[in-house]
Amino acid sequence: MEQVECVVIGAGVVGLALARTLARAGQEVLVLEAEDRIGTGISSRNSEVIHAGIYYPAGSLKARTCVAGNRLLYAFCEAHGVACQRLGKLIVAQADQLKALREIQAKAAANGVALAWLEADAVQALEPALRCAAALHSPATGIVDSHGLMRALWLDAEAHGATVVLRSPVLGGRVAPGGLELRVGGADPTSLRARRVFNAAGLGAQRVARGLVGLPPETVPPQFLSKGNYYGLSGKAPFARLVYPIPSQGALGVHLTLDLAGQARFGPDVEWIEQEDYAVDPRRADRFYAEVRTYWPGLPDGSLQPAYAGIRPKLHGPGEPAPDFMVQTEAVHGVPGLVNLYGIESPGLTASLALAEEVAAQAGILPAAAR
Ligand SMILES: Cc1cc2nc3c(=O)[nH]c(=O)nc-3n(C[C@H](O)[C@H](O)[C@H](O)COP(=O)(O)OP(=O)(O)OC[C@H]3O[C@@H](n4cnc5c(N)ncnc54)[C@H](O)[C@@H]3O)c2cc1C
Repeated sequence: MEQVECVVIGAGVVGLALARTLARAGQEVLVLEAEDRIGTGISSRNSEVIHAGIYYPAGSLKARTCVAGNRLLYAFCEAHGVACQRLGKLIVAQADQLKALREIQAKAAANGVALAWLEADAVQALEPALRCAAALHSPATGIVDSHGLMRALWLDAEAHGATVVLRSPVLGGRVAPGGLELRVGGADPTSLRARRVFNAAGLGAQRVARGLVGLPPETVPPQFLSKGNYYGLSGKAPFARLVYPIPSQGALGVHLTLDLAGQARFGPDVEWIEQEDYAVDPRRADRFYAEVRTYWPGLPDGSLQPAYAGIRPKLHGPGEPAPDFMVQTEAVHGVPGLVNLYGIESPGLTASLALAEEVAAQAGILPAAAR
């Protein structure tokens, strides 16, 4: 049976960032990806926003890895020629939302993120089409070419000796002496033994974990699916920056993001679903109009078209508070060499490089100081 030092399951942005970090730390790394391309999962269906780390509870893994990941990501993009733009973001408040805006500013400050308070006239000077009583400006927020990023991570991981194998779904496995045995499907099914296994399978993480004989099943958290639908704006983008309303009920509100071609889209909304389904219902756009017009009264009728949808791998159901990213090591589940990553929703793209360092440190491969 083939013997490998480290197996990473899943070639999304998190698995690829992890493979790169492990390979750079001198580990032998094999990435097993079920699909025939890298990055076809959650990482290909998101807003491509480089978040600043504003909303997450201070000290949480989401806050720490987002703030650190933001800096690492811009530096990585620059070093590897990945397209990104530091556009900045405005969080806009109407007259009855100023207290909430202050609270967001304080929360961000607790995470070490400085947001500038702008009165209405200053906002108007920046974005004449925008209507609000005040706004917060986040200069560190930007956008990135997520596929370019994953390609660059893949290349750098391989340059440091990692191997990414496509069409290789992990079908199951078992805890074995000195590591884990994995059954790998595809055209040429095989089994292999790994001293360490990192489960970064995104929406498949719980399924992979439940298929590992010897992993206590009660350590595998339930998974909930929250679909986010996007609607593209036909015509020219009205703003040069990303525009977000005040978040409500655990969601960021119907916000405007821009892609690297300057095209605007609104979303994602929140739709709880039972099974993976990426169809975008044109009728859901109806409710976007009223919400968007609270800050952009000029939104023309009929200008929103279904674009695409992504699915968040949630660890909580509707109305429940969002828990932190979950990184489970031997200390939690008792299986030496196994690390399970669950609930890597937003800001997982931004956080990927810092999360990879965190995971490698928790696995004892990088010194804890690297966190
Ligand atoms: C609607 C939406 C908007 C978002 N917007 C942002 C944003 O603007 N900024 C931001 O920072 N974050 C954002 N995120 C979060 C970010 O996209 C994710 O955190 C990140 O992409 C997760 O990457 P991943 O590698 O964990 O998962 P994935 O990209 O899903 O990768 C997992 C991989 O594992 C593979 N796999 C699954 N099962 C198996 C198996 N059994 N064997 C082998 N391979 C397997 C899959 O094929 C897949 O390629 C958003 C998420 C959503 C859903």
